[in-house]
Amino acid sequence: MYRKGTFMKWIGLIGGMSWESSAEYYRVINQLVRTARGGLHSAPILMASVDFAQIEAYQHRGEWDKAGTLLATVAQRLVAAGADCIVLCTNTMHKVAATITADLPIPFIHIADATAERIVASGIRTIALLGTRYTMEQDFYKGRLEAQYGLTVLVPDEADRVTVNRIIYDELCMGIIADDSRTHYQTIMAGLVARGAQGVILGCTEITLLVGAADVTVPVFDTTQIHAEAAVTYALAAHP
Ligand code: GLU
Repeated sequence: MYRKGTFMKWIGLIGGMSWESSAEYYRVINQLVRTARGGLHSAPILMASVDFAQIEAYQHRGEWDKAGTLLATVAQRLVAAGADCIVLCTNTMHKVAATITADLPIPFIHIADATAERIVASGIRTIALLGTRYTMEQDFYKGRLEAQYGLTVLVPDEADRVTVNRIIYDELCMGIIADDSRTHYQTIMAGLVARGAQGVILGCTEITLLVGAADVTVPVFDTTQIHAEAAVTYALAAHP
């Protein structure tokens, strides 16, 4: 009989933002657990997946308080279902992390912290950040990397930020993976390297669907992969 704490912990995923990247979390987490434990092992996961159209509408209207309240409610549903930690499968919605964690009795695995720890450990100090405009421009993410981890964060110029953002919402979140968009990202990343970036954060959980290590000359920090790894590290820590 299952006894809480005897096996792996239950990973609570808040997904759907977009489901294209949530599917990636599900795949990567299960692959990591199979690699770590072998055989037929897979990850104990509870996933609550929201309607992204509603979240995107809140973003667009600047109604972050409403988005935060909604995601806090979803987190509590996962707690009630038995989740041992919360993994919010989007960089952008970490803007409302404080609302989600306010009454959360279980750990919240923050995507920017997991990523920053990896960057700092690599010795890199100047890092490029690609993501939604919210992520590239606002303090909840860029500012956190700078203030809490001492990193110098470079973002694309205004026109390129619009392009990076457009490709995320109009293509990647819709399941569209286009060669010309990959070329745009390659060009933008090369420009950031020319400005001094020693690495690139794929700071949106869909970007890994479009580009990877082969598309730029410096190391990439794939937030989807890193966040999934942090979740698995936490889940396996319970296992003897
Ligand atoms: N998944 C994306 C991210 O990591 C963007 C979608 C969203 O706005 O949540 O930021």
